[in-house]
Amino acid sequence: MDKDQAKQKAIEAVEAAREELVEISRDIHEHPELAMKETRAAGLIADKLEARGFAVERGAWGMETAFKARWGEGPVTVAYLCEYDALPEIGHACGHNLIATTGLGGAYGLKAAVSPSDVTVLVLGSPAEEDIGGKAIMLKRGAFEGVDVALMAHPAAIDIAAPPMYGVESCEVVYKGQAVHASIAPEAGINALDALVTAYQAIAQLRQHMRRDARIHGIITYGGSAANVVPDRAEAKFLVRALQPQYLEELKARVERCFLAGAQASGAQVEVKWAHYPYLPMNNNSSLADAYKENALAVGRSFPDIAVDSTGSSDQGNVSWALPAIHPTFNVGAFAINHTEAFTEVAATDSAHQSMIEVGQALAMTGVDVVLNAELRERAKAEFSGRG
Ligand SMILES: [Zn+2]
Ligand SMILES: [Zn+2]
Repeated sequence: MDKDQAKQKAIEAVEAAREELVEISRDIHEHPELAMKETRAAGLIADKLEARGFAVERGAWGMETAFKARWGEGPVTVAYLCEYDALPEIGHACGHNLIATTGLGGAYGLKAAVSPSDVTVLVLGSPAEEDIGGKAIMLKRGAFEGVDVALMAHPAAIDIAAPPMYGVESCEVVYKGQAVHASIAPEAGINALDALVTAYQAIAQLRQHMRRDARIHGIITYGGSAANVVPDRAEAKFLVRALQPQYLEELKARVERCFLAGAQASGAQVEVKWAHYPYLPMNNNSSLADAYKENALAVGRSFPDIAVDSTGSSDQGNVSWALPAIHPTFNVGAFAINHTEAFTEVAATDSAHQSMIEVGQALAMTGVDVVLNAELRERAKAEFSGRG
């Protein structure tokens, strides 16, 4: 089939699904669910995919809120990723309701445009992007075996086809000291909170002397139970991020030394638990990202010419080192920064949903390119394996 005709079909199919996609986005947005607890969202999307003829496996890869949906028997496998987890207290401040529906839109559009003998369309429901990294677990459990490309898009302040994204290591640190009456016998206590505050200050000082393409941030999650008791326990969570994996390792070691400094100074014991799955930096596939950009421009998106030197992280980074993958960002119709209440508000507006339709169309068209343009497919693969 002619590629332009197929793309036109994809565009029309996503537009035709507008009402359904908006309804799903609003439903997920109105019922925010935390990482690994996204029962309603995963169930809703799986129902819709089934209604559209996809074969759906719920609770895939041993995760209750993951799913795998498949349509077609073709030799080229295009996977669309759907995220749907929210953040504590501020709800869908990362707009993952829109990730779910742009992924769905992409899959609906590609299904309408290409014969099932040419393509296998997968929709992979990936839980817990904001916490433990659902895609890292899916990857380990074989979710991406036989997949040619992994496509998704993330709402943000601006449209970027191939945004840089940090790798991230996260940890929980626990200090254990000795509780005692804080006035009667403070000399007999070991103050776990002091240990943590010393470490926190050491990390704050370290921040002054690290490269610009890295970040460290954390919160104290427990610091004692009563002001008149010397805290025998203090807990914190920290994230260490860097664009380059080697520098990330270096920073991680320096942060560990800050934790030890707190223990040394106070006499408390320290335990540092690093997360099972680090998030890798995004290895954007530029062949696919260029195709996405061209398609997005064709449906009315615009890409401001701004050098981006500040970013976040995604478990799509892990996927991007296993197969050709993209993670473009898109504006939601207002300038807002992720993880703020303002972003939560704009993530379900009419303008956000207009962006969602256009981005869903661009993702569908990129799927069409992958299926009908063998040269692009080869280029994406060659680039990925370092032969490009
Ligand atoms: Zn986020
Ligand atoms: Zn996000």
